[in-house]
Amino acid sequence: MIYLDNAATTKPFESVVEKMNAFYKELYFNPSALYSPAFAVAKEKEKTRDYISSALGGGGKVYFTSCATESNTWALNNGIKNKNGNIVVSSGEHASVYENAQSLLSKGLEVRFVKLDSDGRVNIDDFVKKVDENTTLISVINCSNETGAVNDIKKLAQLAKNINRRALFHSDGVQALGKVPLNCKSAGIDMYSVSAHKICGPKGVGALWICDGLTLSPLLPGGGQESGLRSGTENVAAIIGFGEALKRFSDSDKSEILNMRETLKQRLLTLDCVEINESESQSPYILSFSAKNVKAEIMQRNLAEKGILIGLGSACSSRLKKNRVLTAMGRTMSHIEGSMRLSFSPQNHNDDMEKAAEIICNTITEYRKR
Ligand code: PLP
Repeated sequence: MIYLDNAATTKPFESVVEKMNAFYKELYFNPSALYSPAFAVAKEKEKTRDYISSALGGGGKVYFTSCATESNTWALNNGIKNKNGNIVVSSGEHASVYENAQSLLSKGLEVRFVKLDSDGRVNIDDFVKKVDENTTLISVINCSNETGAVNDIKKLAQLAKNINRRALFHSDGVQALGKVPLNCKSAGIDMYSVSAHKICGPKGVGALWICDGLTLSPLLPGGGQESGLRSGTENVAAIIGFGEALKRFSDSDKSEILNMRETLKQRLLTLDCVEINESESQSPYILSFSAKNVKAEIMQRNLAEKGILIGLGSACSSRLKKNRVLTAMGRTMSHIEGSMRLSFSPQNHNDDMEKAAEIICNTITEYRKR
């Protein structure tokens, strides 16, 4: 089997599973307990927090959550402090931001959606038009989960802060963490959402980075964990796995990923019917393409039967007929129907890519001959 759906989730690194195991088998104590074996657990958890916070640039702290959907929900709901204000959100957001924005809209808040350029990045002119002195919150995805287009978060944050210093800037960094460098502090942003399972870590743990000096309303009141902001006994094993995954993923060879993407891209481009969805500023971990007169869902099934697992844009919305993000990029319905996503991790092997490319190209050709 060749797994090319790493933007949906990844296989955890062996060392992640090993480190987590110790926290299930021996170090299972509640980190809030006041006996010494529990202190060791709390210490490891805090070490991981410091490591992830400094990997994001320092100048802030991560608060652990159960997933990035939770982090995004927390961030977005801090935009409702001022009912007369407006919220600015890009049209390229993952469902976990987009649906929260829709829910704020249904509560009567003004939500402004920023247009995308045809390459999947935020349209800067429209962004500048949409932010004003009444904007309370801005949310722009760092790297698109659909196409891998990378937004210039530092530039957008600076433009926004020049218009309105008080507007909070949030970015969904799920597909960027460990892949596309961003220093949250020097970018001047306020909140950043991340998740472990996209970087060969465990499912069920995410975090929200919050810059120093910003006070958010608690997400879950209760026992007072996470400095009283997100109560609930911490998923320590997963938090430790998150830290280990980030270390290993950040150290992994990025040129291997670029090579794998390039091999597949060049082979796909030998077919006249293929168009690549990419941007000048592009994550090497995602290769989105569309094959004319092909139904991607059928292709996904056919390829799975041949041992190649691929994605169709967002895994969470793979069953939705209309792809919101590709539509915002101006793609036609027939282009969207034939859109597929290949995504990579350090656990893929360059040697497999020729074989994968051949099977994908042959399957597209066979389908078009029917
Ligand atoms: N944001 C982006 C860009 C994603 O790709 C995903 C997952 O697909 C999420 C948020 C949600 O992450 P989680 O599964 O941790 O809730």
